[in-house]
Amino acid sequence: MILGSYRIDIPFDQLKRYKRLLLQFPAGLKVYARKIADVIEEKIGSEVFISSDACFGACDIAVDLAKSIGADALIHFGHLPIPNIKLDFPVIFVNAVMDLNVQKVSEIIRENVREKSINLVTTAQHINFVYDIKEELENQKFSVQIGKGDDRIFKPGLVLGCNFSSALCGDTNSIVFIGTGSFHPIGIFLAASKPVYAIDPASMTIKMPEEIAKKREKILKKRYALIALSRDAKKFGIIISSKIGQRRLGLAIKLKREIEKMGKDAHLLVMNNVTPESLRDFGKFDCLISTACPRIAIDDSDNFDSPILTPIEFEILTGKKKINGYIFDSISSIQDSL
Ligand code: SF4
Repeated sequence: MILGSYRIDIPFDQLKRYKRLLLQFPAGLKVYARKIADVIEEKIGSEVFISSDACFGACDIAVDLAKSIGADALIHFGHLPIPNIKLDFPVIFVNAVMDLNVQKVSEIIRENVREKSINLVTTAQHINFVYDIKEELENQKFSVQIGKGDDRIFKPGLVLGCNFSSALCGDTNSIVFIGTGSFHPIGIFLAASKPVYAIDPASMTIKMPEEIAKKREKILKKRYALIALSRDAKKFGIIISSKIGQRRLGLAIKLKREIEKMGKDAHLLVMNNVTPESLRDFGKFDCLISTACPRIAIDDSDNFDSPILTPIEFEILTGKKKINGYIFDSISSIQDSL
């Protein structure tokens, strides 16, 4: 079915066997949730519930909520699965595909991208088009890589805000991201030391590497300032998200032991949504280390009352890692979940 600018193909035949379903949507698709629920109820006669909680990504799968209402399956809209998340409950992923003008996007790349050897990456909405764009560009004498990524990546060329492994493969000279907003391009630039171009297929505009680099520098300045602010920290809070694809329990426990060995105080703080409000009643921490989604520490640090670091930034603080050459806290494996 077509809803707004999305094509959403619901696998009705696959759903027929389920009597009670929970539907889960990211914020941008919630506006279509009631329409989709009505269509599913009408077509297959199942009892349909809609999760009203926030959904931040493919890591955030409402299995517990589905179990709590006695659902037989969860339908997760708008993301592709993360292959290394092991699920013990039926979850059906339904992508929301946005149409894309392959010719126009290729033309923008041809006219603006200075390097002839590129990595092409995108998000779930546009992933079906990457090979068409590659073909167009190769006809224009570009050399185009579409990286497979690691075991957190479902399809070649896909990037997540916490994993840019598909962008890092090969020895290309630059990375071209296709998608909206700055969230992914900035993350790619933090993870890779190559020029990043970002093409917004909705407005057909391009952000050049210089513009993205400026934002990167601003973020890096802030990250190093937060590390410096934490230098004399004695009381640490280690944040763990209970979301299945963000839960790095083993890493959190390791950090606690390490901090205690240094003769300092550390507590493990587990929560579902990581918000400043959920921490306020505990009193002041000198430093927070987030093992949850790395973008919480990087993008939302202004909202927290204490400096909030990624686990890799904590290693810079302790001198284990060098201050030069920022390393992005990529979630590549959640196998450390104890
Ligand atoms: Fe997105 Fe963060 Fe989840 Fe990664 S961990 S999928 S960036 S919400």
